[in-house]
Amino acid sequence: MDLTFSESERAFRDELRAWLDSYDPGSEPAGDEDAHYAWRRDFQRALADGGWAAVHWPVEYGGRGATIMESAIFFEELARAGAPLPANVLGLLLAGPTIMSWGTAEQKDRFLAPILTAEEIWCQGFSEPDAGSDLASLKTRAIRDGNGWLISGQKVWTSGAQYSKWCMLLARTDPDAPKHKGLSYFLLDMEQEGVQVRPLRQITGESEFNELFIDGAVASDGQLLGGLGNGWKVALTTLMNERAGLAFFLQVRLRQLLDALSAEVAAAGMLDDSGVAERLGEVHLRAEVLRLTAYRGLTATEKYGQPGPEGSLTKWMWSQTNQQLTELAAQLLGSSALRAADRWAYELLRARGNSIEGGTTEVLKNIVAERVLGLPRAH
Ligand SMILES: Cc1cc2nc3c(=O)[nH]c(=O)nc-3n(C[C@H](O)[C@H](O)[C@H](O)COP(=O)(O)OP(=O)(O)OC[C@H]3O[C@@H](n4cnc5c(N)ncnc54)[C@H](O)[C@@H]3O)c2cc1C
Repeated sequence: MDLTFSESERAFRDELRAWLDSYDPGSEPAGDEDAHYAWRRDFQRALADGGWAAVHWPVEYGGRGATIMESAIFFEELARAGAPLPANVLGLLLAGPTIMSWGTAEQKDRFLAPILTAEEIWCQGFSEPDAGSDLASLKTRAIRDGNGWLISGQKVWTSGAQYSKWCMLLARTDPDAPKHKGLSYFLLDMEQEGVQVRPLRQITGESEFNELFIDGAVASDGQLLGGLGNGWKVALTTLMNERAGLAFFLQVRLRQLLDALSAEVAAAGMLDDSGVAERLGEVHLRAEVLRLTAYRGLTATEKYGQPGPEGSLTKWMWSQTNQQLTELAAQLLGSSALRAADRWAYELLRARGNSIEGGTTEVLKNIVAERVLGLPRAH
C-alpha cells in the first residue's frame, strides 16, 4: 500500500478536519454513564448530519463510499481531534456491514438508516455462560411458532444492551444438526417483555456490559438474517468485521492515549531519564507497527471484499500494547495514576478486558497460527 496521500485524499482529510474543528462536543461528562452515553450519541447524530457517520459504507446506504485509505484517514482524524467514540459503534462497524452482506432488500431498507443516525442502537448477543471462545456450542433456542420464532436462553457480556433497540442474536434452530450448522442469526427486538437486561458491574465500577435473559421473545421471519441454519457463516462476517474494523479504530485510540502519556511524562520533566524515554519509545514503536499492520488489514479488505484473518493479529497486538501502555503509565506517574478518579487508573483497569473481548488472545493466536501462517490445527 502506498501511504502517500493523493490530492483527493488530502481534500477528504481537510474537509473532515474543517468539520471536526467546527463541531464542539462539549466537555466529556464524568462519573455518569448515561450522560456519557448521551454525549456520544449526540456526537454520532452530528456526524450523521454532516454525512460523516459511516464513511466506509456505500453511498446508497448513506455512507460516502470512502476508499480504504479515506477510511483510515477518517479514524486517524477522529483521534487527532480527540473526538468522542460514536455511540452506535457496534451498529456502524458490525451490524451494518453484516446486514449489507447478508440482508434482503427489505432488511437493508429497514435497518441501515437508523444505525447511522444512532436512532437505533445495536448490541451483539453471541456469548453465553458456557459458550464464549467455543461460540458454536451456544444453547439459546429459537423454535418455530406459526409464522415466526420463539426464542429462549441466556446471553452474557452483552455490551451496551441497556441502550439497544436491536441485538445481533445467534440462536440454535436445529438441535439435531452438527453444532455449527444448527444456528441461525436473528435481528432481535430488545424492546419486548421476553427480553430482560441486567447490568454487570465491572472492575472499573461501570456497567458497560450486561446479562440478557430471554424468555419466549418473538422474532418474525423478516428478522432472520442470511437464511435458516446459516447463522455460523453470518456470525463469521460479524466477527471478521469486529476484529478488522474495531481493531483499526482501537489502534487510533491507543495513539491518543500514548500521546497523552508522553505529554504528561514530558511535563513532569521525566523525559531526560533515558530509561523512561526508552520505555516510552518501545510503546511508540509497537503503536506504529500496529498502525501499519492495521493498514495491511485494510488492504486485504480492499482486495478480497471482506476482512481476512489478519484482523486477529491486529486485535491481539492492540490488546497487548494497550495493557503495556497503561501499566507503564502507572509505573511512571506513580501513585497519582492510581487514584480512584484518575484517568490512568481507569485505563489500567479497563485494559484488563482487552485480551478477552472480541476473542481472547489465546484463541486469536490459534487463528493466526492456522489461517495466516498455515500451521497444523490445534487439537
Ligand atoms: C469488555 C468485554 C466486552 C464484551 N462484549 C461482548 C458483547 O458485546 N457481546 C458478546 O457476545 N460477547 C462479549 N464479550 C464476551 C467475549 O467475546 C468472551 O468473553 C470471549 O469470547 C471469551 O469467552 P469466555 O469469557 O466464555 O471465556 P472461555 O472461552 O471460557 O475461555 C476461558 C479461557 O480459556 C482459553 N481458551 C478457550 N479456548 C481455547 C483454545 N481453543 N485454545 C487455547 N485457549 C483457549 C481462553 O483464552 C481463556 O483464557 C465481551 C467481553 C469483554 C471482556
